[in-house]
Amino acid sequence: MIPMVDLKAEMKILREPVLKSINEVLESGHYILGEKGKELENQIASYVSCSYALGVGNGTDALYLALKALNIGHGDEVITTPFTFFATAETIAQVGAKPVFVDIEEDTYNIDPTKVREKITSKTKAIIVVHLFGRAAKMDEIQKIAEEFELKIIEDACQAIGTEYNGKRVGALGDIGCLSFFPSKNLGAYGDGGMIVTNDRKLYQKILSLRNHGSRQKYIHTNIGINSRLDEIQAAVLLLKLKHLDLFLHKRKEVAKRYTNSLQPYLKTPPAIETREHTFHQYCLEFEERDALAEHLRKNGIATAIYYPIPLHLQEAFYDLDYKEGDFPIAEKVATKILALPICPFLTIENQMEIIASIKNFLH
Ligand SMILES: *Cc1c(COP(=O)(O)O)cnc(C)c1O
Repeated sequence: MIPMVDLKAEMKILREPVLKSINEVLESGHYILGEKGKELENQIASYVSCSYALGVGNGTDALYLALKALNIGHGDEVITTPFTFFATAETIAQVGAKPVFVDIEEDTYNIDPTKVREKITSKTKAIIVVHLFGRAAKMDEIQKIAEEFELKIIEDACQAIGTEYNGKRVGALGDIGCLSFFPSKNLGAYGDGGMIVTNDRKLYQKILSLRNHGSRQKYIHTNIGINSRLDEIQAAVLLLKLKHLDLFLHKRKEVAKRYTNSLQPYLKTPPAIETREHTFHQYCLEFEERDALAEHLRKNGIATAIYYPIPLHLQEAFYDLDYKEGDFPIAEKVATKILALPICPFLTIENQMEIIASIKNFLH
């Protein structure tokens, strides 16, 4: 089977240095909030060009802590997209606020800035912008709206580390940026991990405390926080993999380019873009007979995936929000047609040619 992401192929290359690095942590006897974590925070801050970075337990906690740090809670509304991973809106509900969805753009799958204004009320406090599949959202327009209505911007950059927009890396464009190191993400740990980036010293200090039981000094608790820290073993793995990140992102773009060049005449492929603005966490196409195509590929030993089959406003967990089918027609339509193909830095040209041939075979 050709998998969506070939982590075993990666392990073949990284095993030796990873074992050496993990061993250093084991020798140190220091497993949480130590030197590796600090070094990773420094390197990610510098990679994203932000003043501060904070390692946390995972990308979901990064979003939760970002909302908490901005004092968002009961009675507040937060605008976001219904076409994203569940965690984006889940964390809004976790802090007690209300997720308010805005439909997506047909071509980029990101939040449609032209539809944001009509959803803003006196209760709106922030926008969570998702750079879905690695493609930068239209931040210029979002920033203009945020300034006009004095809203905070949280970037859910969990799928988009390294993506650039107007010469800056995503995560550094809003008030707080959130990254995930889930194993299949573009920079993946060998377990859970996440990071928060910001240029705001006050927010940094607040999250420093929030991620560690509301405490900055041992056994002195100034507020109610959570336990969400990046452990030293994951930090060691990530420090190693960060060295390869730009090369790995480059390889993803090459895979994407080959897919588009071969499939563009037959299917709806991702629209062309300034290549810096997309790091291809996923390569998704759209096709009317999506399910039949997926089944054909599966039978031929090729994995595919659907991101995302049910938009968030139609999820049972958000039943209380009183949304219904038809509320976000573009997200709903895309959900029925979208199909993600295998993409990762280790997808060989031979395997990719096999995937492309199998798709063409189905179409003819
Ligand atoms: C992966 C992901 C998250 C959550 O990250 P975890 O590390 O799995 O908690 C949040 N938002 C988006 C868009 C993601 O893709």
